[in-house]
Amino acid sequence: VNYLSWFKNHSKKHSLIIDKLLKNGYDQTEIIDYFEYDNMILHESDFCLLYNNKVKCHEIDKLNCFLCGCPNFRFNDTKEIKSYCSISCEDGKSVQYGKFTHQDCSKCLIPHKKEFILKNFDHDWKKIMKMCESN
Ligand code: SF4
Repeated sequence: VNYLSWFKNHSKKHSLIIDKLLKNGYDQTEIIDYFEYDNMILHESDFCLLYNNKVKCHEIDKLNCFLCGCPNFRFNDTKEIKSYCSISCEDGKSVQYGKFTHQDCSKCLIPHKKEFILKNFDHDWKKIMKMCESN
């Protein structure tokens, strides 16, 4: 799977959930709360591959999946630097696989915290992530 296909596919899944929640009258707070990991594994098992094995990408309480991935992530499948962090966050790092460089965000919690989600909130996930494809 390359970044672009994940991005497109995830965007579709995200907007289907949002459409459903909006139809059911959810407000912004209720939408964000719906995306809490504990709720998502129960009701949206297809949203993330990790849900099937009840695994979290980050072992924290109150993991929120609304902003998976991250608006600071930059990718381009055609370049040798396939991804990087636009804010050079100190909790992220670059990893080398052969001649390709990828961003490793496994130690960074920025997009999973509610305050960050509130600050960046939009019903349209693609809008929030609009810079990600600009690597
Ligand atoms: S290191 Fe953190 S801020 Fe940077 S792209 Fe990854 S998750 Fe986002």
